[in-house]
Amino acid sequence: MEKIDLVIASRNKKKIEELKRLLADLPIVVRAVDEIADVPEVVEDEPTFKANAIKKAVEVAKATGLMALADDSGLEVEYLNGEPGVYSSRYAGIPRDDQRNNEKLLRKMQDVPWEKRDAWFKCVIALATPDGEVETCEGKCVGKIGYQPKGELGFGYDPIFVLPEYDKTLAEIDPDLKNEISHRAKALDQVKKVLAEKIQKMG
Ligand code: IMP
Repeated sequence: MEKIDLVIASRNKKKIEELKRLLADLPIVVRAVDEIADVPEVVEDEPTFKANAIKKAVEVAKATGLMALADDSGLEVEYLNGEPGVYSSRYAGIPRDDQRNNEKLLRKMQDVPWEKRDAWFKCVIALATPDGEVETCEGKCVGKIGYQPKGELGFGYDPIFVLPEYDKTLAEIDPDLKNEISHRAKALDQVKKVLAEKIQKMG
């Protein structure tokens, strides 16, 4: 079977490697947007994860003439009406700083009781074809905001995101376990099904 080119609309090398590994069992050649010349940087200025993911995937598919995959993710805290949301990476301002973001969130949640600390990570992945057809898949990882950072693993808000069923933060659990239960893993599972269907139709 002929392999299909899929371009990842990201310049994050870790993310591209992770996606290559996770898509290895499909007849797909995963390419990074950086490998392809003249693809302009897409500005993530939409109000939702979904709209940002769609914008990136559609623009990169159009610019490259290839099927494109893009993701957008972040943290939503119920007590703060969904903050930090699409501002997750720059919550405490530019330059982006995970530690300052965590400190800001902990300050805002300082006196909030445990039962009102519900939060979830969300990931939306968009898959676009060069002719403008686009599909999206979503994944969620539900937990609570802790009272202080714990653990050294992971990145972003992991040290303050508690998984009550493990009594640990995402920065304290085995990365393999995180890769099974994360919002990204769940969205990607669905994407793989969509991709497999598309490939079957093409084939
Ligand atoms: P991006 O979608 O990779 O750009 O991530 C946006 C931001 O959301 C990151 O900079 C983090 O602040 C936060 N975020 C997304 N996924 C995770 C995660 O798995 N753990 C911790 N923080 C995350």
